[in-house]
Amino acid sequence: MMTLEEAQQQVDAWIKKYGVRYFSELTNMAILTEEVGELARVMSRKYGDQSFKEGEKDNIADELTDVFWVLLCLANQTGVNLTEAFARNLEKKTQRDNQRHINNPKLSEHGKE
Ligand SMILES: [Mg+2]
Repeated sequence: MMTLEEAQQQVDAWIKKYGVRYFSELTNMAILTEEVGELARVMSRKYGDQSFKEGEKDNIADELTDVFWVLLCLANQTGVNLTEAFARNLEKKTQRDNQRHINNPKLSEHGKE
């Protein structure tokens, strides 16, 4: 099992060994958008109304990982410790939303469709 901290460290080591240096923050922001688009393409074909073109693969895990990779790069470049940030974010969501979704009738109706 790899921790978030180890993932950040492994990306950093890989970039330094094979990537020469990080792309600029803005370039990685553009790449993140591109990778989210690639994930959206697979999702629309697998779960949406689109169909796979010849030669296209159902590679959701790989596309999710591409998104995660660039997020890890951006976290490293901007000095974010994702382990700490995730813990804070989870606490924020729990404080804010601990009744919100439970009390949302649209969510329980969804299961009846
Ligand atoms: Mg990709």
